[in-house]
Formats: sequence, structure tokens, C-alpha cells
Amino acid sequence: MSDLLSMDDALALVLERVQPLEAESLTLEQAVGRVLLEEVRATVDLPPFPSSAMDGYAVRAADTPGTLPVVEHIAAGRPAARALRPGEAMGIATGGVVPDGADAVVPIEVVGQKDNNIQVDVAVAIGAHVRAIGGDVRTGAAILGEGVHLGPPQLGAVAAVGVATLRCARRPRAAVLSTGTELRCPGEPLGHGQIYESNSTMLAAALVGAGAEVETLEPVADDAEAHRRALERGLTGDILVTSGGVSVGPHDLVRSIERELGVEEVFWRVAVKPGKPVAFGVRGRTLVFGLPGNPVSALVGFELFVRPAVRALQGAGRPGPRFALGRLGSSRPRNVSRDELVRASTRTERGEIVVEPLQGQESHMIVRAAAADALLLVPRGEGELQPGEPVRYLPI
Ligand code: AMP
Ligand code: MG
Repeated sequence: MSDLLSMDDALALVLERVQPLEAESLTLEQAVGRVLLEEVRATVDLPPFPSSAMDGYAVRAADTPGTLPVVEHIAAGRPAARALRPGEAMGIATGGVVPDGADAVVPIEVVGQKDNNIQVDVAVAIGAHVRAIGGDVRTGAAILGEGVHLGPPQLGAVAAVGVATLRCARRPRAAVLSTGTELRCPGEPLGHGQIYESNSTMLAAALVGAGAEVETLEPVADDAEAHRRALERGLTGDILVTSGGVSVGPHDLVRSIERELGVEEVFWRVAVKPGKPVAFGVRGRTLVFGLPGNPVSALVGFELFVRPAVRALQGAGRPGPRFALGRLGSSRPRNVSRDELVRASTRTERGEIVVEPLQGQESHMIVRAAAADALLLVPRGEGELQPGEPVRYLPI
């Protein structure tokens, strides 16, 4: 057993330090992808009136089978001028108000039409093709609760019950800072010993996806003064995510400079592979994540700790990470002391998700990782996981 902090304990320490952000009022358009911070109740019955589910004829079930004169045509949004009388039919469109006196709708496909009469050959059941008032929801009923993520169906439901604005947490303000003297921006010429800086782009994209507003700071060299300036700026938001400089080398300055700047370190190093040297601290309400520089380590650290924190800041009821279940495609050795997040691709076989580890698992191999749609969790332990075993994975 490793004496390093476990993944679950580390996540609990992060979530413990999250103080949810204040709410703001948003239009439904602005609320896409946000987290709801209130209970939403229906302002109307839905449907608000007995509504036709089909294009057809409104009738009295008791008058069928039979031949009935068509006395009026009802369009959606244009209720009939009067009630239906016994022995009559009214043409009605889908979504039209079923008139008083009618208790069923006969679909247009099943009636014969002649002159101004319809011929119904079957006995129609009471209520057939009539959507009852409040059949979906009743006025005043709670339709969504606090902490719900607002995706398309949720926003559709809110609009359908007549609610036009929602209280949601404001977007977290995040800063991203890459550290490393060897880093050059894409598009610049590359000198010997240098590499292209990729973590800022990746982490900023991930933060935006998690709902944050992002400022990407200029990458800094492994120089204390440059670190001081950039970190101080990054610490003014709700969340600071750095990459690189959290290992044990003489050029790894992030943690020591953060300490100088008043960051209280909550943990450093977690029993996870890749990404062991991940650091987490706080200064005031600012959450401070130090991800390792290897791009795949940074990616894994983000999914395990940063994304849940960004969601929790917005009040998410289930901030994650949300592992899914599948079956292992091929055998995979376990690491004795660290839980491993293995880049994998998923496929469906006989209705089940099969998770297949990819070639190229080293933590610098971001191009290999780009082929993955899953991080397979290989729990630490002896031996190897066998093909077909149930496994958990994080969709990415
Ligand atoms: P570090 O965590 O600073 O020791 O960096 C570990 C490895 O990741 C080194 O090979 C770095 O060159 C590389 N690396 C660090 N930062 C980045 C970055 N922003 N983009 C791409 N690679 C990086
Ligand atoms: Mg470095």
C-alpha cells in the first residue's frame, strides 16, 4: 500500500475547499451549459388545455361509428367558436384545442370523407388522441432542482412551462499559466532543446468546456521573478491552473513561489499515474492547482480534480468525475502503488461498451492521447486486469 494520498481522498480535499460562487440572473439563451441555483416551478399546466395529438376530427366517442357533418375547422392557436353538439364533428389540427362537447379525436387517416361529412367505421375510445390538461406537468409543480446542469432538454422544459429567466452561478474566472524555459508558442521557430507549448491551449479549452471564463497568461521561463509576477496575476481569479514546475527538480519553482505569495498548500502528490506530483492549495477563495508539465499528466490531473472543482464552484449537485461502466478489451497490468488512468478508446460490442487501452501510454505522448475517448481506471494492485472484466472509465 502506498502512503501517498489516494485519488478519492485528494478529490474530497479539493471539494471541501470549494465555496460556491454567487448567483446571477440569466436568460435561457445565456443559461446553456450552466448550473441551476434555484428550484423552477411550472407557471402553467402543460398542456394548458385539452389538445389534439393528431390531425383529424374532434368527435363525441358515443357518436362513433357513424356519419357526422363537419361543422368547423380548428387550427392550432384558434379555438372553435362554439361547443361541439351531439352528432357533429370538427376538423382539428395537431395542437388545436379540443372543443367543449368533444371527448375524442379521430385521426384523418382512418376516416372516409364525402362532401361535408366524415364516415367513421370504428368505435372510438373516450379520450383517444386527446392530450389531457396538465398531462406533462401541473401548475406549481417543481420541474428542476438546484444543482442541475442545464442542457438542451432542461432548457426546453423551462421554456415550455413559461419561465424566462434562471438563477445560475456566475462563470468561474480561471487563469492558466504554463511554466518552463524550454517552451515556445506554436508558430514560432523551435531552437534546439525547445518544445512547443501545448498545455495552455489544452487546459484553457478544458476550462471553457467546464463552464469557466479563461485568461491564458504568457508562459513563463523557470525564473523566480517571472513566476512571481505571473502567479500573482493568476491568483486574482476564482481558480488558477498552472502546468509544470511541481516536481522535485531545482527548476521546479511553482510551489515555493506560491507559498511566498500566501498560497496554503492542501496537498502535493497523489497515488495516481500519470500525474503524481499534482499540487492543490488555496489563497482566500482562489483554488490553486499545480498540474505536472507532461501533457498527459496535465490532462489526467484536470479531469480528476480541476473539472470537478470548476463544476462545484458553479453549484453542481454531482460535480464528478463521473465514471462510466464498460468491459476491458485486452489485458492490462496494474501498478502496485498507484491508480492508473490509461488512455483508451471505446467501442460497442453486443450492446456493451468495450474499453480498449491504446498504444503509447507515456505521459509525454499527447498525440497518442488525442486518439482516446476514455480514461480507463486501472485500480492499483497486483497482477493484471483480464479481458472482459468490468471496468470504470471516464469519457473524455
Ligand atoms: P515539468 O513538470 O516542468 O518537470 O515538465 C515535465 C515535462 O513536460 C517536460 O518534458 C516539459 O518539457 C514538458 N512540459 C512542461 N510544460 C509543458 C507545456 N506547457 N506544454 C508541453 N510540454 C510541457
Ligand atoms: Mg518544467
